Amino acid sequence: MIDIFKRLAPSYANVVRKLGIDVWYDRADFDQFISSAERFRRRYERELIEYYHRMKYPFRRSEIRDLSDEWLADQVTIFGKVKEVADEKKKNLQIKLDEVKDRKREEVSKLIEDAKRHEGRIVRVLSFADNLEKRSKQIGEDQAFELATKINHQVVEKISGVYVWKTQEDNRVRTTHRKLANKIFAYDDPPTTIDKYGHTHTGNPGTDWGCRCWEEAARGKPLRGYVVRG
Ligand SMILES: [Zn+2]
Repeated sequence: MIDIFKRLAPSYANVVRKLGIDVWYDRADFDQFISSAERFRRRYERELIEYYHRMKYPFRRSEIRDLSDEWLADQVTIFGKVKEVADEKKKNLQIKLDEVKDRKREEVSKLIEDAKRHEGRIVRVLSFADNLEKRSKQIGEDQAFELATKINHQVVEKISGVYVWKTQEDNRVRTTHRKLANKIFAYDDPPTTIDKYGHTHTGNPGTDWGCRCWEEAARGKPLRGYVVRG
């Protein structure tokens, strides 16, 4: 499973990263973006189904398709969200220019002239586009994880009341979740995490903000009333 995440998430991160760049230059194509998302979710469904066959997990194709349809609908919102981020950044860019304008008129008008001649340059100078690119890539990656963890949750939840907590095993995994990795919990008694800022959360994998953790079906005795501190 983890190999599917690792293999597929970067490709959608790249789709949304490219969207970020296209939106910035006002050349984003909605239909093209949605058909990339459509191809991505089909590929993901196929890989997950093969994995469930291998694991001998029972599942219904229609359930997987329903969740994947929901995800695809969310991508319409993502398109709007990236555009919103870009517009906000363009507005900030203008504010920044206005601020400088009061002080160094000549310098700024030169900057604006340069920008008109070569749009890419001013963007690089103020690094707003780089930031948007990074942010879009992040959004895409999170969306990819969300598609798989939601489908996986629905399938595994029905197998037994207990699961093994799994992480993405990379450096973005928070300390508290690293401590939950490979332990068995019951859906009706999920662990509680308390991070170093005192933020407390009780829930199954993927329920805490930005969490990309997932679960595997388990047999065995779950840990009950479990609390970790990070
Ligand atoms: Zn997590």
